[in-house]
Amino acid sequence: MLEHYEEKLSNLRRDGFDKREAIISSPQGREIAVTVDGQSRTLLNMCSNNYLGLANDPGLVAAAKSAIDQFGFGMASVRFICGTQELHSKLESHISDFLGTEDTILYSSCFDANTGLFETLFGPDDTLVSDELNHASIIDGIRLCKAERRRYKHNDMESLEAALKASPLSGSRAIVTDGVFSMDGTVANLPAICALAEKYNALVIVDDSHAVGIVGEKGKGTPSLHGVSDKVHILTGTLGKALGGASGGYVSGRSAVVEWLRQASRPYLFSNSLMPAICAASIKAITLASESDALRENLNARVSQLRTGALRLGLAVGGVNHPIVPIIVGDADHARMLAKSLLADDVYAVAFSYPVVAKGAARVRMQVSAQHTREDIDRVLTVLRRFQESRVSQQNLTV
Ligand SMILES: *Cc1c(COP(=O)(O)O)cnc(C)c1O
Repeated sequence: MLEHYEEKLSNLRRDGFDKREAIISSPQGREIAVTVDGQSRTLLNMCSNNYLGLANDPGLVAAAKSAIDQFGFGMASVRFICGTQELHSKLESHISDFLGTEDTILYSSCFDANTGLFETLFGPDDTLVSDELNHASIIDGIRLCKAERRRYKHNDMESLEAALKASPLSGSRAIVTDGVFSMDGTVANLPAICALAEKYNALVIVDDSHAVGIVGEKGKGTPSLHGVSDKVHILTGTLGKALGGASGGYVSGRSAVVEWLRQASRPYLFSNSLMPAICAASIKAITLASESDALRENLNARVSQLRTGALRLGLAVGGVNHPIVPIIVGDADHARMLAKSLLADDVYAVAFSYPVVAKGAARVRMQVSAQHTREDIDRVLTVLRRFQESRVSQQNLTV
């Protein structure tokens, strides 16, 4: 077995598909100190999920520090034995108030929330209908459960309706989708999804990890953006992206569902309680995100600067109005070349190619943060311009 994996690893390295971790020696932020080829460099960070720039926010850091002083470091217990402090309950009600839901249950991560959700609520008589580009944690969560599964084409409402029509009438049905899709920056067509859900008597479950804090009124997410908050029955999400970026996830929605999860969801029952300091800082993050639009306004200004700038250069840009800005170049080598040119100019962004994205749709995914300045985005656009010019002159030579 060891030989088998050594061979697989050496093949990955040979083909350039192995993932290497960049070691960072600074806090997460607009700029990070990274060791590249043995050299420490300061890079403009264009690839974190730190959309609101709260990961090293002084207010969050202070809240975490004072929670450590008051509540200590760890809980050493699951929630239902002796792992629930005031802070855990307080964070759960903050999330419910923020999202406008009846109740919320915390997990160690949104990955855990998604693996604890489906098997607890759905059985062999039920059907789950899922977007083909849904996050790995949804796919795994659905795999753990015995319900019948159907996939529909990404954001394709005809394909969704066909899947609903084909699902048996017995048992319950649910449509499951990411609110925002991480590789493309596309937003789920929730108005149409909710309308189909009503027509076919299905629940709507949305994982809003890439939207909570940044999309919709006050950052309430994609249901708010689309005006369908009352038609989405179950929301999952993470505290590990816009809302401070530490860790933690949740399921939020009707109290009967949330209470049942507290009784029966395995990653909740059998995994340790969140660190108290994370709860305190996440409460602060939600307060900052919901109190003012200032962070989102700066974020959106920089997002449209990057999107319109890249489109003007003739580049293909995925998604709409979201800080995930994929520059789709097609060829895997071109995507790697673009990431390399960015790095040469001290800009850090990552190239993705097949099998992470479809064949022929290789890309460099940029992620904008509220911390970025106009000058930062100009710097990125300068590299993109040079890349595009050299690509065009190359094409002319080949022609
Ligand atoms: C990031 C992400 C997750 C995982 O969240 P963690 O809290 O880091 O486990 C789950 N679902 C979606 C859609 C995500 O984008």
